[in-house]
Amino acid sequence: MITTILTDIEGTTSSISFVKDVLFPYARERLPAFVVTHGDDPDVQHWLHEAAKEARLVSASRQEIIDLLVGWIDADRKSTALKALQGMIWKDGYASGEYRAHVYPEVAARLRAWQAEGKRLYVYSSGSVPAQRLFFAHSEAGDLTPCFSGYFDTETGPKRDAESYRRIATAIDAPPAEILFLSDIVEELDAAAAAGLQTTLLARAPSTCPAGGAHRCVADFDAIDG
Ligand SMILES: [Mg+2]
Repeated sequence: MITTILTDIEGTTSSISFVKDVLFPYARERLPAFVVTHGDDPDVQHWLHEAAKEARLVSASRQEIIDLLVGWIDADRKSTALKALQGMIWKDGYASGEYRAHVYPEVAARLRAWQAEGKRLYVYSSGSVPAQRLFFAHSEAGDLTPCFSGYFDTETGPKRDAESYRRIATAIDAPPAEILFLSDIVEELDAAAAAGLQTTLLARAPSTCPAGGAHRCVADFDAIDG
């Protein structure tokens, strides 16, 4: 019996292209102006300082920090400071209605139906937890945060490591066998299955289900046997 659903975001609830083609370019484009405008806010100042420290810049000008951060975006560097600053920029973009987070058309209704059946829903994504909350608070289907009981990011561990799924099961106090993990990445599902979770692969069009795959596979949330 499935009592708990744990879902990935990109490629699962939502298109990969929204994050790649909308969110990341928006943060890159707005970052210089954001640093200039908000550079004296204590929160922003803190993360600019952390970025400089991470790069071992002793006394960096604001422009040097901007160049550093844009370089990190281009290099897809995993930096906590960069993530925090990107999150602040995205928050502005959501708040001003520049964009709403993409969710596939059937997703919101299925989340609400599972919730109405008494299932508990959680998110596990490589985007930071604050970014995940923003994402679902400002989705194309409205505020979906009331559907979720909690959020996990890679602070819990890598998504292709079985130990991460054991930690999540412990954190949400659910037997692994009662948790259904949804993802578009087979290696993530392999790791979840190794930890005893149930798994379903999302093969969003134009992808198709692999022949003879180890995981149940569906094209959308309506086909999930939850
Ligand atoms: Mg994914």
